Amino acid sequence: MSAIAAIVAGSLRNVPDFPSPGILFKDIGPLIADPVAFAAVIEHWRARHTGRLEVIVGIDARGFIFGAALAHALGTGFVPVRKAGKLPGPTIERSYDLEYGSATLAIQVGAISAGQRAFVVDDVLATGGTAEAACRLVEEVGAEVAGIGIVLELAGLGGRPRLAEWDLETLATA
Ligand code: AMP
Repeated sequence: MSAIAAIVAGSLRNVPDFPSPGILFKDIGPLIADPVAFAAVIEHWRARHTGRLEVIVGIDARGFIFGAALAHALGTGFVPVRKAGKLPGPTIERSYDLEYGSATLAIQVGAISAGQRAFVVDDVLATGGTAEAACRLVEEVGAEVAGIGIVLELAGLGGRPRLAEWDLETLATA
């Protein structure tokens, strides 16, 4: 296990049956409350991506935490992809299926310039529907998904194959 994977694995909290029965929720609370662990995650991506990126895109809501810190460290701007109805327009939206029902994400038109190299950030990868929708929105506004950075990958749920067309880096696997 890499040093960063050990730090991530050692600072997450498993919460059974949250937010609903049968879900094992991966709580990043302890990781971001620990200044050494939080800094290690940001420094890992900063070191890999310095000079390569023009904008960081964070996914609602925990992707904002890592994404905004990374944007600051890299000296880039930060753009949120939010749940529908939260961003003032004009926006473009994209819906995707969840196990039960569907969800919709939105991005503001004009927040990213066409051709900009974006890095899409979130906390947990499960089925990949959320990250895929965010990446499609980035591409719809004409930008390039230069990579996807996700702190924890839940293996076997289909997320990695679903994101196969992009450069995906996860820091730890559970
Ligand atoms: P998915 O679209 O299935 O890949 O789900 C990923 C999104 O849902 C991310 O924004 C995560 O924050 C959240 N998520 C999904 N499963 C979990 C989990 N077991 N623990 C914590 N967050 C999760």
